[in-house]
Amino acid sequence: MRCLSCHKLSFSIFCKRCKNELLKPSISKRNIDGLGVYSFYKYYNIEDFLLTKHTPLGFRVYGELSKITFKPFIREFIKNSNIPIYIVGVDESVKSGYSHVALLTHQMRYKGVKVLHNSLIAQNRVNYSGKSLEFRLENPREFIYKGREDINIILVDDIITTGITLKEAKRVLNISGVNTLFALTLATLV
Ligand SMILES: [Zn+2]
Repeated sequence: MRCLSCHKLSFSIFCKRCKNELLKPSISKRNIDGLGVYSFYKYYNIEDFLLTKHTPLGFRVYGELSKITFKPFIREFIKNSNIPIYIVGVDESVKSGYSHVALLTHQMRYKGVKVLHNSLIAQNRVNYSGKSLEFRLENPREFIYKGREDINIILVDDIITTGITLKEAKRVLNISGVNTLFALTLATLV
């Protein structure tokens, strides 16, 4: 096949060179009302790849991006952690045949880490894409949490824009007796 980025022949959807250079993660941190949010990329640097979400190609793109970001991150993190860590994806509902968030969290399975698939579900499926802050505030996701209580979790999402979704997710988890350590996203818009 050909590399999605440089179109050279490649064994995977991104060639080795693109993975090492263009797609080399550069972690940045934002603080959303006391919640630390770490992102691996700036949105506009990988926008074309992120836009494959909900297309058949996105299945491979999101899986591959997670392998070079979330997977090494959690392996490094768990080395220095003496408590069990749980992973909660922000709304792993299936759209167009797969859940792009579940593709991200799936790569985080490891010794000492447990992925709680489908545990935080948005009841309101309104599309936030391109919508204003005001619209987002007026249309909350209305998450329900179905996972375990009394655990420490890392929250996972694909993109952070305003941070409203993560804030709402953290609030619901908090009410459910879950301690959110921090959040991880593939990309940040700012
Ligand atoms: Zn390439």
